[in-house]
Amino acid sequence: MFFPSRNKGLERLKAFAPHSGREYARLRNYDLGQGRHAHVSGLSPYLRHRLISEEEVLRTVLSHHSRSSAEKFVHEVFWRSYWKGWLELRPKVWAQYRAGLARALNRTKTESGVRRQWEDACRGETGIDCFDHWAKELRATGYLHNHARMWFASIWIHTLNLPWELGADFFLRHLLDGDPASNTLGWRWVGGLQTIGKTYLARPENIRQYTKNRFYPKGLAGTAQPLYSDGHPPRGQAPQNIDWRPSGRVGVLVHDDDLNLKPLFKSGACPVSFTRLLTCEQRSPLAISEDVIGFAKNALEDTANRWAERIGEDGGLHTTLDPILSWAKNYELDQVVTSYGSTGPAKEVLDDLETRLLPLNISLVRVVNPYDSMTWPRATHGFFRFKDNIPAFLDEMGI
Ligand SMILES: Cc1cc2nc3c(=O)[nH]c(=O)nc-3n(C[C@H](O)[C@H](O)[C@H](O)COP(=O)(O)OP(=O)(O)OC[C@H]3O[C@@H](n4cnc5c(N)ncnc54)[C@H](O)[C@@H]3O)c2cc1C
Repeated sequence: MFFPSRNKGLERLKAFAPHSGREYARLRNYDLGQGRHAHVSGLSPYLRHRLISEEEVLRTVLSHHSRSSAEKFVHEVFWRSYWKGWLELRPKVWAQYRAGLARALNRTKTESGVRRQWEDACRGETGIDCFDHWAKELRATGYLHNHARMWFASIWIHTLNLPWELGADFFLRHLLDGDPASNTLGWRWVGGLQTIGKTYLARPENIRQYTKNRFYPKGLAGTAQPLYSDGHPPRGQAPQNIDWRPSGRVGVLVHDDDLNLKPLFKSGACPVSFTRLLTCEQRSPLAISEDVIGFAKNALEDTANRWAERIGEDGGLHTTLDPILSWAKNYELDQVVTSYGSTGPAKEVLDDLETRLLPLNISLVRVVNPYDSMTWPRATHGFFRFKDNIPAFLDEMGI
């Protein structure tokens, strides 16, 4: 379904753009089943790795429709930017998720009931037919419709009473678009941790209507109690875009969190070499699906091939930092330049790399994409306040 190349992402965008106006607003909530998701774009695996950019998607969509007819689709694209900005301003929420996941995984080792239920849920063997279908669809395709993600998370938390972190982790291990911000905050929202006290309840009638009678589940929880929250951590600053100038020998580090290399070349760098770093295996302490790894790996290759003439000699594809440090030493680099890796595994790995490059007198320059510098600082409160900025964002991009 999802071939990992920029061209395939652009083809998908071109094909979907005519449908992204009022038709999208009317039909987007219908989940018609595996392989039949024609009412939504399926662009998320491409956007998530920035094989295509938010700006390109918005520009294409708004070349087919007015701002008002495409309002719903445009808002959805900005939901992604909002979640990313929200987490970027509060990275502690990611750390809390990781700690909660470690505790929950521990429970699967010590409580056989939890382990059995968790395994049944991941295999799609709970006896709740829609839930089991979505678990299998996710494993088979690496994708779920947004409404199915909401229903699935709600049943996981409120009917099966499983720890939400195990569900978020199941998604991150299997979604091709697995994203620390949209995923963690989407699960928190369903559990009542994001808009504190406000939960999302999957209702049989709603599922029947929006799956076009494919499912009408029995036995779902009739109420959804919010999970315990001690509030949001204090808000920090969004990462600043530094005025980067190449100095000495420059190497490029290409990673799967942001494959848009254009902003790296604004300063006229002439890199001697590049290397590729795969970070997606760090999305979970458990094994990530082969499809997720395959998508990210091939997306990295596609990017390297497209930029081959600008980024110097090939320093190979790596999943750990030791060979990256050897690469930087062998090429006698003074600077390693890379796209900013957002809060989650990419940032963790790049923080570690920066610390290890320092004693070698090599600096790590992380370039923040201008779209992120524009949107992230605005994710201070709820989406409704954030979305008031959308006309100004579009104006600023000249769309
Ligand atoms: C529990 C849960 C977990 C989720 N996990 C992820 C995840 O790991 N990665 C991810 O990219 N999205 C996640 N989402 C958001 C959303 O479900 C997907 O982005 C969307 O389904 C992708 O399919 P699409 O490209 O066909 O969407 P379309 O409806 O065609 O939307 C176009 C684009 O807008 C953005 N978008 C749409 N809906 C949302 C949303 N609710 N939140 C954020 N961005 C949105 C996506 O980039 C998407 O590609 C999650 C939602 C929930 C409820």
